[in-house]
Amino acid sequence: MKVAIIGGGAAGFFSAFSVKEHHPNSKVTIFEKSNKLLSKVKVSGGGRCNVTNACFSPSKLSKSYPRGGKHLKKSFSIFQTKDTVEWFSKRGVELKAEEDGRMFPTTDNSQTIIDCFLKEAAQKNIKILEQSPIRKIVAENEGYTLHLEGTSEHFDKVIIATGGSPKMSGFYWLQQLGHSISPPLPSLFTFNIPGDQVKILMGLVVENATVRIQGTKLSYSGPVLITHWGMSGPAILKLSAWGARKLAENNYNFNIQINWLSIKSDEAANEIIDKELLKIRKKKIINACPFELPNRMWKFLLEKVEINPDSVWLDLSKKNRNKLLNILLNDIYEVKGKTTFKEEFVTCGGIKLSDISMTSMESRVCKNLYFAGEVLDIDGITGGFNFQGAWTTGYIAGKLQS
Ligand SMILES: Cc1cc2nc3c(=O)[nH]c(=O)nc-3n(C[C@H](O)[C@H](O)[C@H](O)COP(=O)(O)OP(=O)(O)OC[C@H]3O[C@@H](n4cnc5c(N)ncnc54)[C@H](O)[C@@H]3O)c2cc1C
Repeated sequence: MKVAIIGGGAAGFFSAFSVKEHHPNSKVTIFEKSNKLLSKVKVSGGGRCNVTNACFSPSKLSKSYPRGGKHLKKSFSIFQTKDTVEWFSKRGVELKAEEDGRMFPTTDNSQTIIDCFLKEAAQKNIKILEQSPIRKIVAENEGYTLHLEGTSEHFDKVIIATGGSPKMSGFYWLQQLGHSISPPLPSLFTFNIPGDQVKILMGLVVENATVRIQGTKLSYSGPVLITHWGMSGPAILKLSAWGARKLAENNYNFNIQINWLSIKSDEAANEIIDKELLKIRKKKIINACPFELPNRMWKFLLEKVEINPDSVWLDLSKKNRNKLLNILLNDIYEVKGKTTFKEEFVTCGGIKLSDISMTSMESRVCKNLYFAGEVLDIDGITGGFNFQGAWTTGYIAGKLQS
């Protein structure tokens, strides 16, 4: 059996290993258009490669994918994070988990993953052709003829692992084969808030804020980082991923409402103040924040609602107390535009999952044609979930089941 893998990235390599594991006598060729194999693996995770996440429950895991999560649940029951850790360990690459669940090689070096893959490919006799872009693919004799520059070759089965494309035209050749495409859009970006005073707090992190996008049901809690152009941090990045389509529709102009305390109601916040009041009533408001909030943010918010920070709690009028609670729980910012997060560009969109069997990764439109990785309409939030998507879909595609 001759098998072609189109794309020499994470999903392409992992598919190739799986083909050899399940079909040891098959002849496998990886076609890579550039002269750089595994280029995204190299730069991933700031050069450390966040390989996967220490979340080992398929249903919990699937909740980290704004697009494709529901479908992936089935796939994770076949190959999940635990299997990734085992796969690498068997090949002498140990992964370690950080506090937030992200898993990296113990070497903290993405080259470890690349070396492991290149060694595995050589041992498994996988042929790798660089600078070999596939221009066209034609169904013929129950298989496919791949057309390269000036040459062509026939294969019994083909796995497409060409990654995401920021433009719809990048999917044209797959559309021509009869597949439907979800239009590509960026996911994982930070919010620009031009002209707002909050930028004076650049570098400050509020550990547990809740950010809601007005006019939607989208809301996330977690750390918020103030940057010199607006806001970033896990809560913002999660919102950007889950809201990728909706925010693009609004041309990235929308309002966010921030609850800096992640306290559900005015009453609950009032209770906390009342409890503390005995201790702080004679203290200056600036020096006695009853909540867990960085001092600089406390001062900023007091000034924003024009409360004299040097006045004492005892003198705070009811009206001013309400104003203070309102800004702490419902602080509004006008977002105008987005900024890419540390060049970690992930596209949402790609081959619609309704065209794919998630337990074989075979196309429902073209027999003997399989898909893996970011070419599919699957994307995860940061934390190693995008690579896990590539390992899972690559492993399943490589089984070459119908
Ligand atoms: C800077 C950066 C950092 C990241 N860090 C992380 C991280 O730490 N953890 C994480 O989980 N995710 C991370 N991601 C996301 C992750 O890299 C991707 O989700 C993952 O690489 C997708 O793998 P893939 O094999 O599907 O696609 P790709 O890695 O994009 O590979 C596709 C390959 O196919 C080739 N190709 C395309 N068209 C053709 C063609 N017609 N013929 C032949 N070859 C073709 C391309 O040249 C490419 O080499 C990061 C992304 C970026 C950009």
